[in-house]
Amino acid sequence: MNTHCLFCKIIAGEIPVDKLYEDDDVLAFRDIAPQAPVHFLVIPKKHIAGPAFLEAEDEQLVGRMMRTGARLAADLGLVDGFRLVFNNGEGAGQTVFHIHLHILGGRQFHWPPG
Ligand code: AMP
Repeated sequence: MNTHCLFCKIIAGEIPVDKLYEDDDVLAFRDIAPQAPVHFLVIPKKHIAGPAFLEAEDEQLVGRMMRTGARLAADLGLVDGFRLVFNNGEGAGQTVFHIHLHILGGRQFHWPPG
């Protein structure tokens, strides 16, 4: 746990969230500022500052994040598709420096993203 990290505080239960799923390794909750009708985040309980800080031992954990996101997307009825996003670094729009997978759905998405 990083005591200055917002998402570590959420994992510790210090900040309430609209939780969708939790196990020993990951937590999924709805984004507080949704950018689509469905927008939630999947985060690891291990503090990792972002994708650029992943180590070899984290590869299985990232797979767990992806599978959890895809399963929840199906549970939430996102049958037409969904967008998965990892922002890395301020230039890419990362604002919380605890790695997180955005899952967005329920509207049409465009490419390239903004
Ligand atoms: P990023 O910009 O990729 O770092 O994404 C961080 C995301 O965390 C943003 O989409 C925020 O809306 C979301 N967020 C920040 N604080 C909270 C919170 N307390 N509960 C849920 N989502 C949050």
